[in-house]
Amino acid sequence: MSSELSYVHPTANSPWGTYLSQVDRVMPYLGPLARWSETLKRPKRALIVDVPIEMDNGTIAHFEGFRVQHNMSRGPGKGGVRFHPDVTLEEVMALSAWMTVKCAAVNLPYGGAKGGIRVDPKKLTLTELEKITRRYTSEIGVIIGPQQDIPAPDVNTNAQIMAWMMDTYSMNTGTTATGVVTGKPIHLGGSLGRVKATGRGVFVTGREAAHRLGLELEGARVAVQGFGNVGAIAAELFAEAGAKVVAVQDFSGTVYSDRGLDVAQLVAHAKGAGVAGFAGGERIADEDFWGIEVDILIPAALEGQITAERAHRITARLVLEGANGPTVSQADDILAERGILVVPDVICNAGGVTVSYFEWVQDFSSFFWTEDEINQRLDRIMVGALEHIWDTADRHKITLRTATFAVACERILTARQERGLYP
Ligand code: GLU
Repeated sequence: MSSELSYVHPTANSPWGTYLSQVDRVMPYLGPLARWSETLKRPKRALIVDVPIEMDNGTIAHFEGFRVQHNMSRGPGKGGVRFHPDVTLEEVMALSAWMTVKCAAVNLPYGGAKGGIRVDPKKLTLTELEKITRRYTSEIGVIIGPQQDIPAPDVNTNAQIMAWMMDTYSMNTGTTATGVVTGKPIHLGGSLGRVKATGRGVFVTGREAAHRLGLELEGARVAVQGFGNVGAIAAELFAEAGAKVVAVQDFSGTVYSDRGLDVAQLVAHAKGAGVAGFAGGERIADEDFWGIEVDILIPAALEGQITAERAHRITARLVLEGANGPTVSQADDILAERGILVVPDVICNAGGVTVSYFEWVQDFSSFFWTEDEINQRLDRIMVGALEHIWDTADRHKITLRTATFAVACERILTARQERGLYP
């Protein structure tokens, strides 16, 4: 027996609605494990906290904070913390669920969790940013911990914020708990290669998928939406491999160059202010981004960007989901019908959490690996996971997304079944 959750009202294209339809699509491939499917459709635990801080001008401001632990059958919760003015409980639920699937897809011993604060961090001073981070960490401190739930960076959060989170948790518990968050600065127990890991994973899965499609990276035309930690690194790696990054879109606008943008110069230009105004390309209307002639499209910003309408206009052969949840389900069907291959978020951007796992392991053993070792292990895990997913997709004649869900959900629900219900 089951019922719809009373505390969220998903629509077809909202993040939780999109996630639920992805779960529904995998059910026919789960055999008797489908009995446990309801587990996937509700978070294990969702915490809403009030985050009050004193602003620099002396006023008191309150922000909404969330930490959702979607599933912990395979291990402690794992997933980033997002600071964004549009953060909602429903969004964080979906992001936490995608973490559960992602960690299982690459076989990391984690469940899935996610956190967020509904705030525009660009409007905060550094002091206010530190205060909001510390108060939020303290409030969610009752449910996080190195063996319970391990936050990490996500949209608008970074190594400095992770350092404050680690310090706050450590002060509250009287320990030096480096393992409570990942994505920390290197000298605070961070891992080499973590900053670039998500973008690197997007590149590695993209390279493998392109190879299987017979698509040469040399000279391939690439468009990237989102030029943060994921999009910019992926763009750099594709450019290094000989691809032409012809369009980049971020919050500030869209730049285009038919000859290819100089990615290194664009990165230097975009720092803080965004890609708009870059002299090495022309500005185009944001909506035109979706119809540009490309071979590879990399959505690496926020959810719900590839709508049904945009899916009809996309010219790429390959879509690499650097973002979480960028494609709504109706658009997914349109892309599949049009023969456009989508490497889904839950495998494509799993490089970040994979190196987070390496960081957590290194923190526990207090023994740190070289960047080469990390990148080699990352490559091996990503390539192996994608191969397994590809075989599953071929066997059942299903999309890579449903195949990734099939591989992951089988692992999650098997653990669920083996652990059994308590009491
Ligand atoms: N925020 C990243 C993601 O969405 C990384 C999470 C982590 O490292 O725990 O996958």
